[in-house]
Amino acid sequence: MTGSEGPGNVRADDIVVLVDFDGTITEEDVGVILLKKYSTTDWERLEARFARGEVDIQQNMQQQFSYVPHDADALVEYARTVVSLRPGWEEFVRYCGVTGLKLAIVSGGLDFYVHGLLPVSDPPLDIHSLVAEYTTDAGWQVTLPVADDRNEEPEGFKEDIVCRYRRQYTHVWFIGNGVSDRGAARVADRLWAVEPLLSWCREHGIDAAPFETFDDVRAQFQQLLSGYEH
Ligand SMILES: [Mg+2]
Repeated sequence: MTGSEGPGNVRADDIVVLVDFDGTITEEDVGVILLKKYSTTDWERLEARFARGEVDIQQNMQQQFSYVPHDADALVEYARTVVSLRPGWEEFVRYCGVTGLKLAIVSGGLDFYVHGLLPVSDPPLDIHSLVAEYTTDAGWQVTLPVADDRNEEPEGFKEDIVCRYRRQYTHVWFIGNGVSDRGAARVADRLWAVEPLLSWCREHGIDAAPFETFDDVRAQFQQLLSGYEH
């Protein structure tokens, strides 16, 4: 972590909170759940290539979902029956809104299921994710909307989003769980992590606060912001 803020020294409106979706906001990895249910190939072999850094996040999802011959409606309908949100998420969203913390989703998952599973919030959250379109002829086409200054490293997508928000906000706080969060974890000013990201951070000397629910995160945010009268 690069931030130097201490309790009470940081203003809520100088902070952006970026949150991963699969396995962080949700308890399960939605992409994995859909692949387990519908993939017609050995998707874990493809996932292992991503974990080894041999393909980037867009290539990984494109390859894996090439073998899922179902449209978005069918996939979201199934996901809704098996996916649960990590406890405290909706209260956490409200807390960020009331406190003036900017909150955005940064997901290496597919846009249709992030939008389909995330509770409606007012105002709507910014969502950065892969974009997936399905046709019966071509199957899934997965793209990654990128800025001109895209980092070409396999882990670069979320790190780029952190850097983009840093132009507007003094402090970038990140909450995540997985392989695709490693780049963002390296450059965020504060980090909250669950496994397997938590162990990876400890192995690499990156400071990360563990949590189980978003109530835990909210309590820590309240402590960090406690000295600031807004
Ligand atoms: Mg994740």
